[in-house]
Amino acid sequence: METLTPFKEAVDVVLEAGGEPLRTCYQCGLCSGTCPWNLVRSFIVRRIIHQAQLGLVDFESEEVWQCATCGACVKRCPRGVEIIDIMRALRKVIAEVGVAKVPDSLRISVKNISSLGNPQGEAPEKRGDWAKDRDIRTFTEGTDLLYLSCCVPAYDGKIRRIALATTDILNKAGIGFGILGENESCCGESVRKSGSETVFQSLAESNIETFTKNGVERIMVSSPHCYHSFKNEYPEFGGKFEVIHSTQYLWELIKEKKIEFKRELNKKVAYSDPCYLGRHNDIYDAPRDVLKSIPGLELMELPDSHEQAVCCGGGGGRIWMDTPKGERFSDLRLEQALEMGADVLAVACPYCMLNFDDSVLTMSKESLIEIKDVAELVQEAI
Ligand code: SF4
Repeated sequence: METLTPFKEAVDVVLEAGGEPLRTCYQCGLCSGTCPWNLVRSFIVRRIIHQAQLGLVDFESEEVWQCATCGACVKRCPRGVEIIDIMRALRKVIAEVGVAKVPDSLRISVKNISSLGNPQGEAPEKRGDWAKDRDIRTFTEGTDLLYLSCCVPAYDGKIRRIALATTDILNKAGIGFGILGENESCCGESVRKSGSETVFQSLAESNIETFTKNGVERIMVSSPHCYHSFKNEYPEFGGKFEVIHSTQYLWELIKEKKIEFKRELNKKVAYSDPCYLGRHNDIYDAPRDVLKSIPGLELMELPDSHEQAVCCGGGGGRIWMDTPKGERFSDLRLEQALEMGADVLAVACPYCMLNFDDSVLTMSKESLIEIKDVAELVQEAI
């Protein structure tokens, strides 16, 4: 049952976020037709936009928390409506006025990030534990590159493999790099998309201060969400750093012959474009170039790829929310990879890895397919 409430401030917040294009929406419905939610259940984006135009907020709405900010609708909209910014603004209004309506798991994750710097609620001093007993130094001024793994590989024992593979390659290539360990904190990208703008801004300011104090100029990240935030959002707060995604950096190293392959992989690999690397930042070639350069590896294109890629379901704070079986986009993507006969579904995002690992387990496909970060495949071949 809809519980629409006229909420005057909502119009201002939404207009501020969506700007004038919100007024230009002519209800064509292309956004609804593009939204991946409609692969698993009905989700009428057009209706939410219409309500926003009228300044109506559904404080009981589940739908506003469903958006994974994948950006498919924004690419399709003929009127340039910034649909993600509108969802973010609606979430902000709901979070500020009716905090009880924010999904519990999301509220707890944002609270953990605000107090401890990570969504898992782990101790900040354990953040660098993944690098213990490895040849990984603390970043000091003058070091070439700061490597930031993202909260997920830092604290999740299974996803840690992304950070271990990446740093192993950097060491083999003789790259001077360091980490900030307990001084690192969440980038805040998903926090902002969850509508918690104040927490996001405080994270951005504190991270910028840490980077600046330590003399950081160049940052390499494993997560497209960190990439998006550091590159496109931190400049608003004075943080101007050179930001590079791991797949871009690996491709540079391969072209410069700093990485040499010694083994053939002989695997069929399907690559799933992460939304925040592809649609949000137009990085489609680097991960494919890296994969194609690995001897013996056969790169396969999933039915929907590049700009049409189906989201794994983890953006917009959804990674911290429960998605019932039968509604997981990652299950659909995994099925596509299996139908093609892929041995490996390659990812370039820790959120994708979390979701796809979960799909493999819950669908009992462990004997048929592996989920690997692009860096892991490179590591296996050098
Ligand atoms: Fe409105 Fe754009 Fe959606 Fe069409 S695609 S209904 S113009 S927001």
